[in-house]
Amino acid sequence: MNSSESLQLCDLCGGSKFSIISHSDRHNRPLTTGVCEGCGLVSHLPVPGEDEVAAYYAEDYRKDYHGESVPSPRRIMRAWNNGARILNQLSPHIPAGTDIFEVGAGIGCTVKNFEVAGHQASGIEPNAGFNSYTRDTLHADVENTNLYDLEPGGDKSLLLLIHVIEHFSSPTRALTQIRGLLRNDGLLYIECPNIGAPFATFGRLFHFAHIYNFTPATLIALAKKCGYEVVKQFKADDHPDIEILFRKVDIPESFSADPQEAGRTRAAIHRYNWLSYNLRPNYLSRRLCKISRYASEYVKANAFVRELEARFK
Ligand SMILES: [Zn+2]
Repeated sequence: MNSSESLQLCDLCGGSKFSIISHSDRHNRPLTTGVCEGCGLVSHLPVPGEDEVAAYYAEDYRKDYHGESVPSPRRIMRAWNNGARILNQLSPHIPAGTDIFEVGAGIGCTVKNFEVAGHQASGIEPNAGFNSYTRDTLHADVENTNLYDLEPGGDKSLLLLIHVIEHFSSPTRALTQIRGLLRNDGLLYIECPNIGAPFATFGRLFHFAHIYNFTPATLIALAKKCGYEVVKQFKADDHPDIEILFRKVDIPESFSADPQEAGRTRAAIHRYNWLSYNLRPNYLSRRLCKISRYASEYVKANAFVRELEARFK
């Protein structure tokens, strides 16, 4: 294990001592990932700047979508069902008609789910690719804008950040900007992968687009530092996804990180090696279920999307 002092300061605790935990990404390309010894936050070393991230997405996006302007039926069906799941999960915690705003709204299916359920729902998405589909076919109120271009109006009631926080160059900056958008006691709902419960073998964990890798503890520590308290944590600490609802509160006068978290994070990441991961109980049957689910998805998606689009004509 390499330990190094770095000129980089940790986005969570401000520390400068990182241990390198990986030298390659999931495709075996060079990518240095480290854990901050002060707080356990896992990030790229060095963390790329906002411009570098934007350039990566522009390139990645071109490769992934080949200039396609209409998302595939399977992509739409999945996004729609995911939006329905989020609406269902949050509904007991928000009054009817609460306005919602999603940062990184993608195709706009989650925003549309909330709108159909009677909420005033809107969002922003930095990628322009599917925006005409979102606005003209789905008729979802999603603007092609960046988070940092928004005026901190202090009027939003519930803000959604679904698999987005791991992509920011500085999550502290992002949560601070978002706090300015929220009204006092406004809610922030975050979903992101949980590095504390590996969802892939160690060699497949890291990806350039995921600049930060959170555990529930590091995400909660970050939110507290930026002026939020936990309302509800929906998934256990060992679930592959973190799903937490926060409330805007005062920014604490002082913040201290838990230095034990670095050791806990390292232990969790190394819990599975390739063999024990693949030999987990039920792994094979779950894998087979997944494959048959993919096959039936292809068949269902076309009909599903035809029906969905007819609803919003
Ligand atoms: Zn730190």
